[in-house]
Amino acid sequence: MLDVTQRDAAARLAPTLGALGVCPRCVLRFAGVSDEAQYARSQADVWAELRGAAGSEPAAPCAEAGACCVCLGMLALVDDAESAPRLLAELTAASIGARRFAFDVAMPSSILVRQRGAFLHANASVGRERMLRYDAIVDAKGVLKGQFSAQVAATLDALRDDASPYRVLLTVEHVACERESEAIVDASSRGARADGGKRQRVNDPSASSMRSVLKALSEPDCRARLERAGLCPPPAGVTPCSASLRASHAPVCIGGRYNKYSREMPQTPWWLDNEKRGISSVQEELQTVLQPAYAASATVFHGAGREDVDVRMLGSGRPFVIEMQEPACLEPGTAVGTPLAELEAAINLASEHVQVSQLRVVPSSSIGDLVREGESEHRKAYRCVVWLSRRVSAREVADKLDGAGEVLLEQRTPIRVLHRRPLLTRPRTVYSMRSELLNGHYLMLDLVTQSGTYVKEFVHGDFGRTHPNVGSLLGCSADILQLDVLSILDER
Ligand SMILES: [Zn+2]
Repeated sequence: MLDVTQRDAAARLAPTLGALGVCPRCVLRFAGVSDEAQYARSQADVWAELRGAAGSEPAAPCAEAGACCVCLGMLALVDDAESAPRLLAELTAASIGARRFAFDVAMPSSILVRQRGAFLHANASVGRERMLRYDAIVDAKGVLKGQFSAQVAATLDALRDDASPYRVLLTVEHVACERESEAIVDASSRGARADGGKRQRVNDPSASSMRSVLKALSEPDCRARLERAGLCPPPAGVTPCSASLRASHAPVCIGGRYNKYSREMPQTPWWLDNEKRGISSVQEELQTVLQPAYAASATVFHGAGREDVDVRMLGSGRPFVIEMQEPACLEPGTAVGTPLAELEAAINLASEHVQVSQLRVVPSSSIGDLVREGESEHRKAYRCVVWLSRRVSAREVADKLDGAGEVLLEQRTPIRVLHRRPLLTRPRTVYSMRSELLNGHYLMLDLVTQSGTYVKEFVHGDFGRTHPNVGSLLGCSADILQLDVLSILDER
């Protein structure tokens, strides 16, 4: 039973809303009833109570005229003897041992459009002192969440916990959603155009998005727009909505460090002119083993910076996080029971060019830390092989390179990255150099540089865009033949 105030409010609305084809649960929402127990009652039971309280006979509820013209039958889903068990059965099949689950509902935006239309219509038919407040209407999505999550909890024998990484999403869709939402949004953008111009962005996929619909419904001429679209009041006799239930796990993030021993391998798949370049990639070498282990739909790779395709990553390796997207429902880190140490060994055995270490499950927040770390001021140690245009002596390189101490560079954005980086001149420091003459024209050079230093350009000078450079220090031309990252220094 409703309390007296609620019953009076709902009974007052029942004749008007019932005549439109609004379901009893939506009448309760419009009357501001927030008690979940009232929504668990059968529609017939609620309707009988309202009919009794109204004194007069409200028109027949929506059941006799298709789905509810506001919620499109969404709030009757739990009563549906056919679809509710089907949805829940799918869920049981997809879930493995979740003890807690987060629950959410995605609902069609046309429900909000229709709700607004019904509200404006109902308000026009009651006296001024009995006007409804739009913000007092109880959210349809919240009602469905309460109703359906209780069924999911019972089916899975699990607790609802919206912080759980195991997510259950109930998606409600309706055939008329796009058309009805677009009618409102499109009318809004048309009205905003100074030239009263042509219909625009008809196929804009965002037109039916919740945000654009909410914005359109808050415009002052909302009523006129709803009336133009034939949605105030919303027409009855609508096809019921359809629903699907899907379980997924939040991405599992695996952190570690990688070494790359190939000069033909990018960090992530590299596409150029629709053609994949390089042999495999660090990401693919890891994904081959990890993706099936987690039964993930895809992987996303994040590195703390990246080296060029032709640069090897040696030493203790570069930190990374690889995300396993939509893994089969698992407790984090179990990887179908395979310990990460075994997966690490499997990657290292399978890959010819990539080795990983320190694999562990990390929180998703560590991705941001990793990216910041990649951009931070870590010094890096490199080794390169340099060709010189003239013969030099060991003494000369010892004096002019090793003896140079800290070298301050002016580095203009290299030509090879100009297409993706702004043109700037950046000061950078080479902290130290240690050279070993291989023969008169070839030199092995170890150097420690400030983060963000373009080492290749420091060697060959990039047509004078990096100054000084190895060539200018030695008074000849220089070129770089090979480059390795030896280590990333100063890490936490
Ligand atoms: Zn309804």
